[in-house]
Amino acid sequence: MFPLAQNNSLPSLQASVFAECDFLTHAFCTRQGGTSLEDYASLNMSFREGDEEFLVLQNWSKLADAFAIPLEQFLVLNQVHGDGIFVIKPQDLNFPSHNELNYDAIVTNRPGLAICIKTADCVPVFLVDKVKRVIAVVHAGWRGTALAICVKVIRLMQDQYGSLPQNIIAAIGPSIGRCCYEVDSITADAFGTQKDKESFLFPQTAKNKWLLDLPEANRRQILNCGVPETNIELSGYCTMCNQDIFFSHRGSGGITGRQINFMMIKETKPCTVTTLNNKVYWRE
Ligand SMILES: [Zn+2]
Repeated sequence: MFPLAQNNSLPSLQASVFAECDFLTHAFCTRQGGTSLEDYASLNMSFREGDEEFLVLQNWSKLADAFAIPLEQFLVLNQVHGDGIFVIKPQDLNFPSHNELNYDAIVTNRPGLAICIKTADCVPVFLVDKVKRVIAVVHAGWRGTALAICVKVIRLMQDQYGSLPQNIIAAIGPSIGRCCYEVDSITADAFGTQKDKESFLFPQTAKNKWLLDLPEANRRQILNCGVPETNIELSGYCTMCNQDIFFSHRGSGGITGRQINFMMIKETKPCTVTTLNNKVYWRE
Protein backbone atom coordinates (compact mmCIF):
# COMPACT_ATOMS: atom_id res chain seq x y z
CA MET A 1 0.00 0.00 0.00
CA PHE A 2 1.26 3.46 -0.82
CA PRO A 3 2.13 5.30 2.40
CA LEU A 4 0.44 8.58 3.26
CA ALA A 5 2.57 11.71 3.05
CA GLN A 6 2.01 15.32 4.10
CA ASN A 7 3.49 18.29 2.28
CA ASN A 8 2.72 21.46 4.21
CA SER A 9 -0.40 19.68 5.55
CA LEU A 10 -1.64 18.63 2.10
CA PRO A 11 -2.15 14.84 2.17
CA SER A 12 -1.10 12.60 -0.70
CA LEU A 13 0.13 9.07 -1.35
CA GLN A 14 3.75 8.61 -2.37
CA ALA A 15 4.97 5.26 -3.64
CA SER A 16 7.69 3.55 -1.57
CA VAL A 17 9.20 2.13 -4.73
CA PHE A 18 10.41 5.63 -5.72
CA ALA A 19 12.21 6.19 -2.41
CA GLU A 20 15.57 5.43 -4.03
CA CYS A 21 14.97 8.05 -6.76
CA ASP A 22 16.14 11.19 -4.99
CA PHE A 23 15.88 13.12 -8.27
CA LEU A 24 12.07 12.81 -8.21
CA THR A 25 9.14 14.66 -6.68
CA HIS A 26 5.83 12.88 -7.04
CA ALA A 27 2.39 12.60 -5.47
CA PHE A 28 -0.86 10.76 -5.99
CA CYS A 29 -3.15 13.38 -4.47
CA THR A 30 -6.43 12.58 -2.78
CA ARG A 31 -9.65 14.61 -2.72
CA GLN A 32 -8.70 15.99 0.69
CA GLY A 33 -7.18 19.34 1.59
CA GLY A 34 -8.89 21.60 -0.95
CA THR A 35 -11.58 24.27 -0.98
CA SER A 36 -14.27 22.92 -3.31
CA LEU A 37 -17.66 21.98 -1.90
CA GLU A 38 -20.25 19.19 -1.99
CA ASP A 39 -19.78 16.83 -4.97
CA TYR A 40 -16.37 18.42 -5.59
CA ALA A 41 -15.14 18.49 -2.00
CA SER A 42 -12.55 19.32 -1.70
CA LEU A 43 -9.34 19.15 -3.79
CA ASN A 44 -10.98 19.06 -7.23
CA MET A 45 -8.36 19.90 -9.85
CA SER A 46 -10.56 19.88 -12.97
CA PHE A 47 -12.21 22.94 -14.50
CA ARG A 48 -14.42 20.77 -16.66
CA GLU A 49 -16.68 18.98 -14.23
CA GLY A 50 -19.00 21.80 -13.21
CA ASP A 51 -17.14 23.09 -10.17
CA GLU A 52 -16.72 26.81 -9.42
CA GLU A 53 -13.69 28.10 -11.33
CA PHE A 54 -12.38 30.25 -8.47
CA LEU A 55 -12.38 27.25 -6.15
CA VAL A 56 -10.45 25.10 -8.63
CA LEU A 57 -7.95 27.94 -8.99
CA GLN A 58 -7.55 28.00 -5.21
CA ASN A 59 -6.96 24.24 -5.24
CA TRP A 60 -4.21 24.59 -7.83
CA SER A 61 -2.58 27.31 -5.73
CA LYS A 62 -2.72 25.05 -2.69
CA LEU A 63 -1.00 22.26 -4.61
CA ALA A 64 1.69 24.59 -5.95
CA ASP A 65 2.33 26.02 -2.48
CA ALA A 66 2.37 22.63 -0.77
CA PHE A 67 5.08 21.27 -3.06
CA ALA A 68 6.82 24.62 -3.69
CA ILE A 69 6.46 24.16 -7.45
CA PRO A 70 5.37 27.24 -9.45
CA LEU A 71 2.01 26.73 -11.15
CA GLU A 72 3.58 27.40 -14.55
CA GLN A 73 5.61 24.23 -14.24
CA PHE A 74 2.58 21.90 -14.17
CA LEU A 75 1.49 20.32 -17.43
CA VAL A 76 -1.99 18.82 -17.79
CA LEU A 77 -3.26 16.94 -20.86
CA ASN A 78 -6.64 16.79 -22.56
CA GLN A 79 -7.04 13.14 -21.70
CA VAL A 80 -9.03 11.38 -24.41
CA HIS A 81 -8.96 7.67 -23.40
CA GLY A 82 -6.63 6.82 -26.28
CA ASP A 83 -3.02 5.68 -26.49
CA GLY A 84 -1.33 8.86 -27.71
CA ILE A 85 2.00 9.68 -26.03
CA PHE A 86 3.30 13.24 -25.72
CA VAL A 87 7.11 13.25 -25.71
CA ILE A 88 8.81 16.36 -24.33
CA LYS A 89 12.45 16.74 -25.26
CA PRO A 90 14.81 18.97 -23.25
CA GLN A 91 15.16 21.34 -26.19
CA ASP A 92 11.42 21.76 -26.79
CA LEU A 93 10.68 25.40 -26.15
CA ASN A 94 7.23 25.64 -27.63
CA PHE A 95 4.48 23.17 -27.03
CA PRO A 96 1.23 23.06 -28.94
CA SER A 97 -1.58 25.08 -27.43
CA HIS A 98 -3.35 23.31 -24.62
CA ASN A 99 -6.28 22.44 -26.86
CA GLU A 100 -3.97 20.32 -29.01
CA LEU A 101 -2.68 18.23 -26.10
CA ASN A 102 -4.96 15.28 -26.84
CA TYR A 103 -2.84 12.56 -25.30
CA ASP A 104 -3.02 10.04 -22.47
CA ALA A 105 0.64 9.79 -21.53
CA ILE A 106 3.66 12.07 -21.21
CA VAL A 107 7.30 11.00 -21.41
CA THR A 108 10.16 13.36 -20.63
CA ASN A 109 13.67 13.64 -19.27
CA ARG A 110 13.28 17.36 -18.75
CA PRO A 111 13.79 18.63 -15.20
CA GLY A 112 11.39 21.10 -13.65
CA LEU A 113 8.25 19.99 -15.44
CA ALA A 114 5.50 18.53 -13.24
CA ILE A 115 3.64 16.16 -15.58
CA CYS A 116 0.09 15.41 -14.47
CA ILE A 117 -2.68 12.85 -14.87
CA LYS A 118 -6.22 13.55 -13.59
CA THR A 119 -8.30 10.64 -12.37
CA ALA A 120 -11.55 9.58 -10.73
CA ASP A 121 -11.46 5.74 -11.12
CA CYS A 122 -9.05 5.41 -14.08
CA VAL A 123 -5.53 4.21 -13.28
CA PRO A 124 -2.66 6.69 -13.03
CA VAL A 125 0.55 4.80 -13.82
CA PHE A 126 3.99 6.33 -13.20
CA LEU A 127 7.08 4.85 -14.87
CA VAL A 128 10.64 5.92 -14.07
CA ASP A 129 13.94 4.88 -15.64
CA LYS A 130 16.14 5.38 -12.60
CA VAL A 131 19.37 5.23 -14.61
CA LYS A 132 18.54 7.39 -17.65
CA ARG A 133 16.29 9.61 -15.53
CA VAL A 134 13.35 9.45 -17.89
CA ILE A 135 9.85 9.71 -16.43
CA ALA A 136 6.39 8.90 -17.77
CA VAL A 137 2.86 9.41 -16.49
CA VAL A 138 0.02 7.39 -17.99
CA HIS A 139 -3.78 7.65 -17.90
CA ALA A 140 -5.08 4.09 -18.15
CA GLY A 141 -8.84 3.66 -18.05
CA TRP A 142 -10.33 0.55 -19.61
CA ARG A 143 -9.85 1.87 -23.13
CA GLY A 144 -6.22 2.85 -22.58
CA THR A 145 -5.53 -0.43 -20.81
CA ALA A 146 -7.17 -2.40 -23.62
CA LEU A 147 -4.93 -0.44 -26.04
CA ALA A 148 -1.94 -1.48 -23.86
CA ILE A 149 -0.85 2.11 -23.37
CA CYS A 150 1.72 1.15 -20.69
CA VAL A 151 3.39 -1.27 -23.10
CA LYS A 152 3.57 1.47 -25.74
CA VAL A 153 5.10 3.92 -23.26
CA ILE A 154 7.75 1.40 -22.16
CA ARG A 155 8.59 0.57 -25.79
CA LEU A 156 8.97 4.27 -26.51
CA MET A 157 11.29 4.65 -23.49
CA GLN A 158 13.36 1.75 -24.84
CA ASP A 159 13.44 3.04 -28.44
CA GLN A 160 13.93 6.76 -27.84
CA TYR A 161 15.87 6.83 -24.57
CA GLY A 162 17.59 3.43 -24.49
CA SER A 163 15.79 2.47 -21.28
CA LEU A 164 16.37 -1.07 -20.02
CA PRO A 165 13.32 -2.80 -18.48
CA GLN A 166 15.32 -3.83 -15.39
CA ASN A 167 15.94 -0.14 -14.64
CA ILE A 168 12.29 0.86 -14.90
CA ILE A 169 10.30 1.36 -11.70
CA ALA A 170 6.50 1.51 -11.80
CA ALA A 171 3.86 2.83 -9.40
CA ILE A 172 0.23 1.99 -10.16
CA GLY A 173 -1.92 4.59 -8.41
CA PRO A 174 -5.36 4.59 -6.80
CA SER A 175 -8.17 3.53 -9.14
CA ILE A 176 -11.39 1.58 -9.15
CA GLY A 177 -10.62 -1.97 -8.01
CA ARG A 178 -11.76 -5.41 -9.03
CA CYS A 179 -14.12 -5.28 -6.04
CA CYS A 180 -16.22 -2.56 -7.70
CA TYR A 181 -15.60 -2.66 -11.44
CA GLU A 182 -18.26 -4.70 -13.17
CA VAL A 183 -18.18 -4.24 -16.95
CA ASP A 184 -20.21 -5.40 -19.93
CA SER A 185 -19.17 -7.59 -22.84
CA ILE A 186 -18.20 -4.60 -25.02
CA THR A 187 -15.53 -3.65 -22.49
CA ALA A 188 -14.44 -7.24 -21.88
CA ASP A 189 -14.18 -7.91 -25.64
CA ALA A 190 -11.88 -4.89 -26.05
CA PHE A 191 -9.16 -6.89 -24.32
CA GLY A 192 -9.25 -9.40 -27.20
CA THR A 193 -6.41 -11.84 -26.85
CA GLN A 194 -4.38 -9.77 -24.40
CA LYS A 195 -1.84 -11.89 -22.53
CA ASP A 196 -2.79 -13.07 -19.02
CA LYS A 197 -6.38 -11.92 -19.54
CA GLU A 198 -7.63 -14.58 -17.11
CA SER A 199 -5.67 -12.87 -14.32
CA PHE A 200 -7.58 -9.56 -14.55
CA LEU A 201 -10.91 -10.28 -16.27
CA PHE A 202 -13.33 -12.51 -14.39
CA PRO A 203 -16.61 -13.71 -15.94
CA GLN A 204 -19.83 -13.29 -13.97
CA THR A 205 -21.56 -15.82 -16.15
CA ALA A 206 -25.06 -15.57 -14.71
CA LYS A 207 -25.21 -11.84 -15.45
CA ASN A 208 -23.23 -11.81 -18.72
CA LYS A 209 -20.89 -9.35 -17.01
CA TRP A 210 -17.23 -9.33 -16.08
CA LEU A 211 -15.21 -8.02 -13.15
CA LEU A 212 -12.23 -6.09 -14.46
CA ASP A 213 -9.08 -5.59 -12.37
CA LEU A 214 -7.51 -2.59 -14.10
CA PRO A 215 -4.51 -2.21 -11.75
CA GLU A 216 -3.63 -5.87 -12.26
CA ALA A 217 -4.08 -5.60 -16.05
CA ASN A 218 -1.55 -2.74 -16.08
CA ARG A 219 0.79 -4.58 -13.74
CA ARG A 220 0.76 -7.60 -16.07
CA GLN A 221 1.51 -5.41 -19.09
CA ILE A 222 4.48 -3.84 -17.33
CA LEU A 223 5.72 -7.25 -16.13
CA ASN A 224 5.44 -8.67 -19.64
CA CYS A 225 7.73 -5.87 -20.86
CA GLY A 226 10.47 -7.34 -18.67
CA VAL A 227 10.19 -4.97 -15.70
CA PRO A 228 11.01 -6.97 -12.54
CA GLU A 229 8.08 -7.72 -10.24
CA THR A 230 9.88 -6.12 -7.29
CA ASN A 231 10.08 -2.84 -9.24
CA ILE A 232 6.28 -2.53 -9.46
CA GLU A 233 4.11 -1.22 -6.62
CA LEU A 234 0.31 -1.11 -6.46
CA SER A 235 -1.44 1.58 -4.42
CA GLY A 236 -3.76 -0.87 -2.67
CA TYR A 237 -6.65 1.63 -2.76
CA CYS A 238 -9.97 1.31 -4.58
CA THR A 239 -11.36 4.77 -5.35
CA MET A 240 -14.98 3.58 -5.20
CA CYS A 241 -14.53 1.84 -1.84
CA ASN A 242 -12.81 4.93 -0.40
CA GLN A 243 -14.90 7.89 -1.50
CA ASP A 244 -13.99 9.80 1.64
CA ILE A 245 -10.41 9.85 0.30
CA PHE A 246 -10.84 9.79 -3.50
CA PHE A 247 -13.16 11.03 -6.22
CA SER A 248 -14.91 8.11 -7.92
CA HIS A 249 -16.77 8.63 -11.19
CA ARG A 250 -18.75 5.43 -10.91
CA GLY A 251 -19.25 5.72 -7.16
CA SER A 252 -20.65 9.24 -7.47
CA GLY A 253 -22.95 8.49 -10.37
CA GLY A 254 -20.89 10.77 -12.61
CA ILE A 255 -20.95 14.17 -10.90
CA THR A 256 -17.67 14.52 -9.05
CA GLY A 257 -14.21 16.08 -9.16
CA ARG A 258 -10.82 14.84 -10.30
CA GLN A 259 -7.72 14.19 -8.21
CA ILE A 260 -4.32 15.09 -9.60
CA ASN A 261 -1.33 12.78 -9.82
CA PHE A 262 1.99 14.35 -10.77
CA MET A 263 5.68 13.60 -11.09
CA MET A 264 8.66 15.87 -11.73
CA ILE A 265 12.41 15.55 -12.13
CA LYS A 266 13.81 18.02 -9.64
CA GLU A 267 15.56 20.94 -11.23
CA THR A 268 18.84 22.49 -10.26
CA LYS A 269 18.15 25.81 -11.94
CA PRO A 270 14.90 27.68 -12.56
CA CYS A 271 12.80 26.32 -15.39
CA THR A 272 11.22 28.95 -17.62
CA VAL A 273 10.11 26.85 -20.53
CA THR A 274 6.42 26.68 -19.81
CA THR A 275 6.06 30.41 -19.49
CA LEU A 276 7.30 31.16 -23.01
CA ASN A 277 4.78 33.13 -25.07
CA ASN A 278 2.82 33.60 -21.86
CA LYS A 279 1.26 30.19 -22.30
CA VAL A 280 0.44 28.02 -19.35
CA TYR A 281 -0.19 24.33 -19.53
CA TRP A 282 -1.67 23.42 -16.19
CA ARG A 283 -4.97 25.05 -16.97
CA GLU A 284 -7.37 23.04 -19.11
ZN1 LIG B 1 -13.88 -1.27 -4.46
